[in-house]
Amino acid sequence: MAKRKFILALDQGTTSSRAIVFDSNSRIVAVGQREFPQIFPQSGWVEHDPEIIWKTQLATARQALRQANLTASDIAAIGITNQRETTVVWDRDTGKPIANAIVWQDRRTADFSDALKKDKANRLIRRLTGLELDAYFSATKINWLLKHTKGAKAKAKAGRLAFGTIDTWLLWKLTGGRAHKTDVSNASRTMLFNIRTGQWDDRLLELFDIPRSMMPEVTDSSGLFTETSALGGTIPVAGVAGDQQAALFGQCCHRSGMAKCTYGTGCFLLMHTGNKPMPSKNRLLTTVAWQIGGKMEYALEGSVFTAGAVVQWLRDQLGLIKSAPDIERLAKRVPDNGGVHFVPAFTGLGAPHWNPNARATISGLSRGTSDAHIARAALEGIAFQVNDVIRAMTADAALPLRELRVDGGASENNLLMQLQSDLLGTRVIRPTVTETTALGAAYLAGLAVGVWKNKRDIARQWNAARQFKPAMKPNTRDALIVDWNKALARTELQ
Ligand code: ADP
Repeated sequence: MAKRKFILALDQGTTSSRAIVFDSNSRIVAVGQREFPQIFPQSGWVEHDPEIIWKTQLATARQALRQANLTASDIAAIGITNQRETTVVWDRDTGKPIANAIVWQDRRTADFSDALKKDKANRLIRRLTGLELDAYFSATKINWLLKHTKGAKAKAKAGRLAFGTIDTWLLWKLTGGRAHKTDVSNASRTMLFNIRTGQWDDRLLELFDIPRSMMPEVTDSSGLFTETSALGGTIPVAGVAGDQQAALFGQCCHRSGMAKCTYGTGCFLLMHTGNKPMPSKNRLLTTVAWQIGGKMEYALEGSVFTAGAVVQWLRDQLGLIKSAPDIERLAKRVPDNGGVHFVPAFTGLGAPHWNPNARATISGLSRGTSDAHIARAALEGIAFQVNDVIRAMTADAALPLRELRVDGGASENNLLMQLQSDLLGTRVIRPTVTETTALGAAYLAGLAVGVWKNKRDIARQWNAARQFKPAMKPNTRDALIVDWNKALARTELQ
C-alpha cells in the first residue's frame, strides 16, 4: 500500500462545518464547507441541532475527499478542531441527544452563575480551572440541561447519559458510540477540569450537580483517539483541540512567549506560557494549550469583543466603505488619526478591561475630521485593544513577546498589521497558510501517526508570507497610547 500522505482536518465552527485536506507539506488540497442553522428559541438563547452538526460535518469530509480525488486509504489521520464550550448531552443507549446543544454564546445560565459568584465559588473556580466563573463555559449549561429536560436527572444518576463538547460528540458519531473521549484543551473549557491535575474535579462536579459517569475520558491532544470507518476504509483519528488552541498550534507557537492573534469579528489572543499554568493578575484566562506525550502545556487567553465588526459597522451602518478591504485605502488617505479616537465598545469591553457597560465612542472630532480619519481611528481602535491584551499577557507571564503571529479575515489589512507592529514594538508576521485552526488539528493528528516527527519538524513547515516591523518613533507611540487611555475612560456609560 502506498504510504498515506494526506491529513483530513474537521473544523466544526459556530456557523459552519468545514473539512480541509492537507498534504504533508501543509498545503491545502481541498476544502468542503456547509453552513448550518442557528436556533434562537428566546432572547439570549443560542442552540445547534447536534444531528445537523454531525451530518454537515460528515458531508464536508466527503466533499473534501471527492474534490481532492482521494479515498479513505489516502488519509493518514483525521484531526478534529471545534467551537469550544458548546454542550451536548445524549443518551448512551440510543445515541440520541436529550436536547439541542447549548452554544457557547448562550446566556440562559447567567443568573445561575451570578448566584454562584455571590457564594464566592468564583475563587475556587479560578484556582482549579483558570477560568472566570461565567455562563460561557460548559458547566452551567450541563446543569441546565439536566434540570430542565424531563427525566434527565434520574437517567444521569443511573449512568445512562453522556456529556460532550463538540469534539466528543463528533468522536462518538465517527465511531458509532465506541469512543467517549475529549482532549485536555477542550476539557479545560468546561469549568469542570482541574488544569493542574489534568482530571475532572469532584468538587466542581458536585458544585454543578453533574454525575462523574457523564464525563468523557480525557486524553492527550495528539495520539490515537480511535479509528473510524465513516468515510469508507478505516482511518485513525489522532488529533483533537479546541479552535483557539488548534490555531496556536497551527501557528507553531510551541514555546513560551510565542503568541497568536486571530482578527475576525472579534480578536482571539493566546500566548504559550510553558509547562506550568500561569495565574493572571489582569483577568485573562489561564487555559490548557495541549497535551502531547502526557505533558501538559499552558496558555494565557484574552479576547477583544469588537474588532473586524467595527469595519462592518462603518460599511453597513455609516456606508463609509463598500467592502471591508476598502477601509485600508480610505484610512491611508491621511497620515495620522488627526486627534480622533474610536473605541469600538459596542458590546462592552473584554480583557483586560472587562467592562460590560462600556459603549463605543468616537472622540476628538474637529471641523477638519474626514471619513479617512474615522477609518484610521477605527483600525487603530482594533490595534490598541490587541495591544492592551498583549501587555496584560506579557505582564502576567513575565515574558517578553518575541513576535505576534496573525491570522483571520482582518489580518489581510496591511495598514492594520503595520499599526499593530508599531504599537507593540515587535514584529507582526502573517503566515502563508492562514487556515491555522484546521492546520493545527492536522498537525496534531499528523504528529501522532508519524507524518511529522516532532514539533520542530512541524515548525519548519511554517512560512511567513509577510512581516511587519515597528517603524513608529517610541515617543509618538507613547503619546498615542496616552490618548487611547483617555478615550477608554470616556466609554463609561453615565
Ligand atoms: P469570523 O471568523 O469572525 O467570521 P473572519 O476571519 O472571516 O471572521 O473575518 C471577517 C471580519 O474581518 C469581518 O468583521 C470583516 O469586517 C473583517 N475584515 C475582512 N477583511 C478586512 C480588511 N481587509 N480590513 C479590515 N477588516 C477586514
